[in-house]
Amino acid sequence: MIIAIDGPAGAGKSTVARAVARALGLAFLDTGAMYRAVTLEVLDRGLDPMDGAACGEVARGLDLSFDEAGKVLLGGVSREAELRGETVTRTVSTVSSHGAVREAIVAKQREIAAKLGGVVAEGRDTTTVVFPEASHKFYLSASARERARRRAFELDVPGRIDEIQADIERRDRLDSTRAHSPLRIADDAVEIDTDALAVEEVVARILARIRSGRGGEGKP
Ligand code: C5P
Repeated sequence: MIIAIDGPAGAGKSTVARAVARALGLAFLDTGAMYRAVTLEVLDRGLDPMDGAACGEVARGLDLSFDEAGKVLLGGVSREAELRGETVTRTVSTVSSHGAVREAIVAKQREIAAKLGGVVAEGRDTTTVVFPEASHKFYLSASARERARRRAFELDVPGRIDEIQADIERRDRLDSTRAHSPLRIADDAVEIDTDALAVEEVVARILARIRSGRGGEGKP
């Protein structure tokens, strides 16, 4: 079974998708981490993030794997701090906007899901492009302010909410206006506005939909 969950930066997709995967006994596929890994490698090699052909070559040749917890390994090594760091976060929307990068990474994502026989995937295009045939599709939304507030809380930097909100809005803009696989709500995805919901409530709603056989069969 494939469950696909999309939404903008900071909507809580990773936390929610991880919990849903655990509850259903499925693997968790963090597609954003894969684009972050390509970005880290591009920066490590001193390549230009605007150069689509060079970034595509990096994406095709990337030695990507996952550990038990679903964390990305680059060349067998966990580089979590760098993947989540500011330099990669600032550059990842540019690297992931190239068609050649998306083609290579989407192929890997489908390969992983086929090998595992099912996944809970989260990202920007998992409901629309990667797994259009997913059994259940969800779109998590939240205001930019609330998403910034959550990120600042997570990073323990409450004084930086405005700065984080500006970065989130910049990434939203890049992710939803790009030519290749822009972020959008799939026609048959169930949208959940998470502004006033705790993580557990979002997870509970998703699980209830899946268990009742709904969620992926048209908007509620
Ligand atoms: O979800 P996360 O914040 O880790 O994603 C980082 C970036 O990777 C996003 O801002 C977006 O540019 C890109 N991304 C994407 N398609 C996905 C997942 C992430 O383009 N399926």
